[in-house]
Amino acid sequence: MKIGFIGLGNMGAPMARNLAIAGHNVRGFDVNAPMPEGVEAANDAPDAADGAEVVITMLPDGAILRDVAAKIHVAMPKNAIHLDCSTVDVESARAVSDEARGHGLRSLDAPVSGGVGGATAGTLTFMVGGSSDAFENALPLFDIMGQKAVHCGDAGNGQAAKICNNMILGATMIATCEAFSLADKLGLDRQSMFDVVSTSSGYSWSMNAYCPAPGIGPTSPADNDYQPGFATELMLKDLRLSQQAAEAVNADTPMGCKARDLYAQFVEGEDGKGKDFSAMLPRFEKRRRS
Ligand code: NAD
Repeated sequence: MKIGFIGLGNMGAPMARNLAIAGHNVRGFDVNAPMPEGVEAANDAPDAADGAEVVITMLPDGAILRDVAAKIHVAMPKNAIHLDCSTVDVESARAVSDEARGHGLRSLDAPVSGGVGGATAGTLTFMVGGSSDAFENALPLFDIMGQKAVHCGDAGNGQAAKICNNMILGATMIATCEAFSLADKLGLDRQSMFDVVSTSSGYSWSMNAYCPAPGIGPTSPADNDYQPGFATELMLKDLRLSQQAAEAVNADTPMGCKARDLYAQFVEGEDGKGKDFSAMLPRFEKRRRS
């Protein structure tokens, strides 16, 4: 397949490389990143999109996505697919989809979970919004870049699924960390806490698969001095997107709102930046009730 790939950063570079290794003809463009192995350099975004059956974007935010989309949609052949894998606001995803349709194109919003490790290993999970036929046509590419793709409905629903998932993740990680901190102060050792909670009704992915306490449970970023993993600032980005979406549709999300405020405080007012999002545990350890 002839593929254009725009945004070759931490995530985009390994995704594009995996497509090239699988035998696809990939032409890439980034304003500030080297070409991954096997990817041919385009002069600019429209050049990468010119004649491509699928153009993949992996960009930082909705404003940049809208800007790039306006440039590439005019260069793409009719009926080609714009496959956006960035995490952006639902409104931008739907606006880009409308714009694509106006140019006779198909589009999918397909944000990912799995991080840089998943992008490199080709084991990402894709949450996909857009038409069924575009989803079917993109399946061979999802198979190369990931291990699972879930079609969530119309345009924007991939982003909706991603921010709802990460709103749950942010809130449960905070709940898990504050519970460990309370257990410490009550004199309950962390292994006992893990053994009980991981097999009781308080269990969650945060506790069972990504335990924030070093040396307890499965190996996780806590065992590597809280090096990410999934960085606090990316969690903050996704929590902000969840609250932006909640405001837009007038949904009451008090836990998501509180999680956003706590990660904002940790990243912007304390020492959380650059750490894994599970570093909420040492943060709570140091704090007292006030
Ligand atoms: P990144 O900053 O490493 O990469 C983004 C790339 O886009 C950069 O190389 C930048 O130069 C390029 N870019 C910016 N503006 C551009 C333009 N106008 N034209 C062409 N290229 C442009 O970010 P990342 O970690 O690769 O994340 C990409 C997206 O994936 C984000 O939306 C992020 O939220 C999402 N995401 C990241 C992770 C992760 O663990 N890093 C996990 C899941 C989802």
